[in-house]
Amino acid sequence: MSRQLPLPLMPAIPPVRREEISDEVNARFWTHVVRTPACWFWVGAIAADGYGTFNYARADGSRRTLGTHRAAFEIAHPELEVYPDVLMHGCNERSCVRVEIGHVLGGTSALNNRYAVATGRHRGPRPGMNDPRGARARSVAIRDALRTGYDPVRLAIAMTVRDPGPVLF
Ligand SMILES: [Zn+2]
Repeated sequence: MSRQLPLPLMPAIPPVRREEISDEVNARFWTHVVRTPACWFWVGAIAADGYGTFNYARADGSRRTLGTHRAAFEIAHPELEVYPDVLMHGCNERSCVRVEIGHVLGGTSALNNRYAVATGRHRGPRPGMNDPRGARARSVAIRDALRTGYDPVRLAIAMTVRDPGPVLF
């Protein structure tokens, strides 16, 4: 029998248990999503910041509300015990729940800030993040355009950032 190596003298860090999302909750989540060839849009509740919100009951009956991009990430990665603090939207659409490269990805605050600078999101012009209607109005316009399912023309109109033009009296 080989000798055991001594354990490093480090404080024990308890593992952070991931939330369990049941199959039933998972199925209900996807009833509020419309998939397009690019983004998969949340068409349920939209928060003031433009992100989708999802509320569900845990196994113990308590309720949990979380951003839909985070819920989608947890559903896509049930194998992870610890989730990233920051999730990035590569597509810059806050109501997108597609967990794939170019859409929702795990990241870090530093990476997210670098990405924001690289894409001009911190100052614009960048469709989506600099929509003059505001982030929530944009997500709501997209949701409304998808109310009867995916229609590329209706979606394109909802996603078009218009110049607000002169104020008329
Ligand atoms: Zn997307």
